[in-house]
Amino acid sequence: MKSGKGIWEYEREMGNVPMMTAEQYIESLRLQKKEVYFMGEKVENVVDHPAMRPHINSASVTYEIANDPVHGQVASAVSHLTGRKINRWTHIPQNQEDLVNKAKMLRVAGQITGTCFQRCVGMDALITLYSITWEMDQKLGTDYHDRFKAFLIETQDKDLMTDGAMTDPKGDRSKRPSQQHDPDLYVRVVEKREHGIVVRGAKMHQTGAINSHQILVMPGMGMAADEQDYAVSFAVPADAQGIIYVFGRQVNDSRKWEGEIDQGNPKYGVVGGEALIIFEDVFVPWERVFMLGETEFTGPLVDRFASYHRQNYGACKSGNLDVLIGATTAVVDMHGIAKAGHVRDKLSEMAHLVETMYSGALACSYHCSSLSCGTAFVDPVLANTSKFNTARYYPEVTRLAQDLAGGFPATLPSEKELDNPRVSDYILKYYKTGENADPLDRIKMGRLIENMTGSTPIIECMHGAGSPQAQRVVIQRSIDWLGKRKLAEKIISSGEQES
Ligand code: SF4
Ligand code: FE
Repeated sequence: MKSGKGIWEYEREMGNVPMMTAEQYIESLRLQKKEVYFMGEKVENVVDHPAMRPHINSASVTYEIANDPVHGQVASAVSHLTGRKINRWTHIPQNQEDLVNKAKMLRVAGQITGTCFQRCVGMDALITLYSITWEMDQKLGTDYHDRFKAFLIETQDKDLMTDGAMTDPKGDRSKRPSQQHDPDLYVRVVEKREHGIVVRGAKMHQTGAINSHQILVMPGMGMAADEQDYAVSFAVPADAQGIIYVFGRQVNDSRKWEGEIDQGNPKYGVVGGEALIIFEDVFVPWERVFMLGETEFTGPLVDRFASYHRQNYGACKSGNLDVLIGATTAVVDMHGIAKAGHVRDKLSEMAHLVETMYSGALACSYHCSSLSCGTAFVDPVLANTSKFNTARYYPEVTRLAQDLAGGFPATLPSEKELDNPRVSDYILKYYKTGENADPLDRIKMGRLIENMTGSTPIIECMHGAGSPQAQRVVIQRSIDWLGKRKLAEKIISSGEQES
């Protein structure tokens, strides 16, 4: 580890390992030396950068609630490996209760942040690789699982945030990785050395990448037998030599350094602070290599990861939409239309859609099974259904919020006009809706609704955890179509038998 040593300033005594606090998490990021670029410039201080700090604040909630006496009930867990209390974002679910608590934890965190809190991709990567390495060892006699367990225990004990990196650039989608015009369009091994491997390529759309402690890379699709160089999984410190981050732009992100009101969500920002991660011939020591050429396990790895991550979407997005429903409720009240029948109908519809999303996250958790290594596994069809519902219902809930809030969030003057002596009083006068109404609250709620219903969150809920087509494919190949047909045939033939 190049400069990550400083993180261990927070290293806890083994056997008595408290989880990191939100403040310790934020401070630990200062000790990393990542190569990060944004808007054409190198970012030396990620923690205090106005475009990045809101995302760091979001991730810090995963530390905050694990230590919270109320939410800590679901956001912490006991490690099945060490028996120590750990943050649930590093826990491997052992039973139904663990999966249900995962869903509950995500809804709560979504309610607090109103946006993505980023740590779940890494959590699901940890969960998935725990079982996949075990299964590889059982079948192939490899020793990946022990390596992975050592990595996992360190992650749990040091309470590290892991960026789970799966999505490759993919180039021409009709071609296999090795047929692309550029062989680096999927992460691959370019060299094997005595002490480890060298990897090259990139991972895209990486949620929370610039504020994670480590990156856990997985193949992004099932690889064919001749694609062994692409069947690679490994972990590296986030500031390992040769890793470059290019932080993405979001709609209205420049508002983050212009003031507080126009941002809408000034503390936590919008969705997950995604970045492009470039692996410029990065060295990985053997003890952090968890798959190397075992192509037959790449498909199961991707499917399993997808199921765990699609479980989440019905929960975290429900929490986010609870905030949006709250903002919409406040605005219709300020506008004096809260009692109108059509308003109440639309609010109920919003709540119905949100609870439908959440029920999928709970259903796939309750309807779980146990993998051969003992890890609890969500029902894959129900998990995919939950994510599919989220891709459909999230935009519908935002449409209803915009319908009810009216057009004012789209036409509000800049917050800078509130400091403009010529018009500031007029703004407060004309945005005031009643004797006791606060026009500033109305403006802030309008901006929050604008923030949560704009293009970036809508695209994210559609394609995060896999595009809806990917869920259709899982559903299509998992459903017992013939069995259903037989049910119908039995019913129509039962009349003939009786007559
Ligand atoms: Fe977690 Fe949801 Fe963000 Fe994914 S989109 S990292 S599940 S909060
Ligand atoms: Fe996401």
